[in-house]
Amino acid sequence: MYELEIKTSKKEEFIDITGKVQEVVYKSGIKNGLCGVFVPHTTCALMVNENADPDVARDISYMLKKLVPDHMEYQHREGNSPAHIKSTLVGSSKHFIVSGGSIVLGTWQGIFLVEFDGPRTRRVWVEIVGN
Ligand code: ZN
Repeated sequence: MYELEIKTSKKEEFIDITGKVQEVVYKSGIKNGLCGVFVPHTTCALMVNENADPDVARDISYMLKKLVPDHMEYQHREGNSPAHIKSTLVGSSKHFIVSGGSIVLGTWQGIFLVEFDGPRTRRVWVEIVGN
């Protein structure tokens, strides 16, 4: 298993980690197989979506805030329930096809670590199986 460390700098932030994940795949030497990516956290998530126009991430953030308002009658005493809920909605893992030594993504797709309760130091675990 490989571990990436990602430092986030804002309360909510979309960080493109596509290059970092690709680098792990290159270093593994595995040419064809599957790559699993997982964040061991409860207030951040992994998203696959457009990384060409940053307004897409902004719009996703905007709608997540509409779906999960900052101030509701949440019970969790830490006060970060919106971050926990958004993390659940977006998800903590993704898997990818590895072909020819790299992850296969659609033309406009990128892999994002989505911070919902930053700034923090986040870990991203990557495992690749194949040959
Ligand atoms: Zn909490």
